[in-house]
Amino acid sequence: MVKTLLPFLALYRRHWFLLSLGIVLAIITILSSISLLTISGWFLAGSALAGLAGILTFNYMLPAAGVRGSAIVRTAGRYAERVVSHDATFRVLAHLRVFTFKKLLPLSPGGIARFRQSELLNRLVADVETLDHLYLRLISPLISAIVVIVVVTFGLSLLDLSLALTLGGIMLFLAFALPAIFYRAGKPIGADLTALRSDYRGQLTSWLQGQAELVIFGALPAFRAKLDDIEKRWLFRQKQQASLAGSSQSLIIFSSGLTFTLILWLAANGIGGDSHPGALIALFVFVSLAAFEALGPVAGAFQHLGHVMASAKRVNQLIEQRPEVTFPEGKTTGSLQASLSLENVNFSYDNQPFPALNGIGLHISAGEHIALLGRTGCGKSTLLQLLTRAWDPQQGIIKLNNIPLPDYDETTLREMTVVVSQRVHIFSSTLRDNMLLAAPDASDSQLEEVLTKVGLSVLLEQDGLNAWIGDGGRQISGGEQRRIGVARALLHKAPLILLDEPTEGLDADTEGQILRLLKQHCQHKTVVLVTHRLTGLERMNRIYVMDAGRIIEQGTHQELLSLQGQYFRFHQR
Ligand code: ATP
Ligand code: MG
Repeated sequence: MVKTLLPFLALYRRHWFLLSLGIVLAIITILSSISLLTISGWFLAGSALAGLAGILTFNYMLPAAGVRGSAIVRTAGRYAERVVSHDATFRVLAHLRVFTFKKLLPLSPGGIARFRQSELLNRLVADVETLDHLYLRLISPLISAIVVIVVVTFGLSLLDLSLALTLGGIMLFLAFALPAIFYRAGKPIGADLTALRSDYRGQLTSWLQGQAELVIFGALPAFRAKLDDIEKRWLFRQKQQASLAGSSQSLIIFSSGLTFTLILWLAANGIGGDSHPGALIALFVFVSLAAFEALGPVAGAFQHLGHVMASAKRVNQLIEQRPEVTFPEGKTTGSLQASLSLENVNFSYDNQPFPALNGIGLHISAGEHIALLGRTGCGKSTLLQLLTRAWDPQQGIIKLNNIPLPDYDETTLREMTVVVSQRVHIFSSTLRDNMLLAAPDASDSQLEEVLTKVGLSVLLEQDGLNAWIGDGGRQISGGEQRRIGVARALLHKAPLILLDEPTEGLDADTEGQILRLLKQHCQHKTVVLVTHRLTGLERMNRIYVMDAGRIIEQGTHQELLSLQGQYFRFHQR
């Protein structure tokens, strides 16, 4: 348990002052609340007895001042305690969120793809938030309760040792027994609450995102039923947790009543050797009543521990991941030219039986244009991704300008390469922002020019670069996405250009236009073009034909045709 919570407890060190101040204030508040009830009880009883006995010299000034003082300290203390402890908790949470997010950032696509998107968001938002119970509901109440019990027992022992130990003993027992009982009872519920909350959000997200598909296939009702079922189970668990909270409170009230009666009975027999305890009875009885205030939150709190633990485990799974790819610090010198060489490169995805790339070797001189050709799934996109260090090969070496890729710092590597990937991502944002990510310094007129070149002037028609595209805005067709990808590539000046089927889904005219544009733009650059299509391959310096992760043929268009192998057969078809 401690191991799970340790990373989060360690975060508390940064804000130890505020967090300890919160606990001190909580203790002061409970103690003043106890003294308020005790002094007033004793004062009333004392005055009554004084009246009965006809004593006229009863000092009422001091207790009256004590009552007022305690009341003021209690109110101010409670307020200050809430402000301080919540402030501290939110600071810790803010830090934890940034900490978790920073751990996510360097993860490779593989590291992130292990979690569904809704799952990631859920862990980052809901699970992190649940962790605020740890201090507010668990640590602070438990420490305060124990300190209060010790102080009260010590204070009472000055009057009567055995009575003080009896009350202290009962409370201490409850302070440990109740958490244990309710932790046990609440653990399965808490774990389920965490899991169901995540399931529910995941299912809801799929339901929203997959509306179109679900409607077309008439699968909406069945999917909805699943969602409702999860919701029902989640609500049921929440209800169970609420009843558990209710039982813990009734148990505390019941124990409080029993203890109160017991102390009354014991105190009636005399206090501190005086068999006529007088007003001190009221003092003891009221202490026992008031001190239970410290126990209230403790019993209830520990049923949340299961919930907290489950969330902590899930956040740990995120932050314990090590990035598969790390970049060195410092600055490598970039270049305006790019040559590439791969030697015996092998790569397999996790949990895939067959290697995606198997003994790939190739050399591309600066300024050469080469094409990668092959059946679907033969590893073309994987090869491009290795060139961007989305993953590193398990064997073999990739060099850019004769320097191994892992020696490049991230900024230099990104400056030297530009990619049009197979799936171009469109951000839900303005057209301008979608373009600026490729070239943050580009002017509006440059952006408009590039968009016009790739044939997307239609997107500019209504709101110009301010047009909102992607989710929540104008939907972008597949072909338009591609061309936005190409436009981004044209903006990002880099000597190495990796194109993953840049003209897929475009009609022949547009395809020709884009290919001409790319050719003109890439004249002095190094180009790796992945394609299914055979148009324009005559102009390539070399063509590599891949099959099942290997290069099976290479050469110019003419050479490969005369080889009468796979390339020739592609052509014939
Ligand atoms: P296509 O022409 O369809 O784009 P491709 O040649 O680009 O195909 P890759 O995407 O490189 O093929 O995939 C090569 C193999 O690796 C395929 O069998 C694919 O299923 C598998 N693969 C691709 N990406 C992953 C991944 N992230 N995790 C596991 N396996 C993957
Ligand atoms: Mg591909």
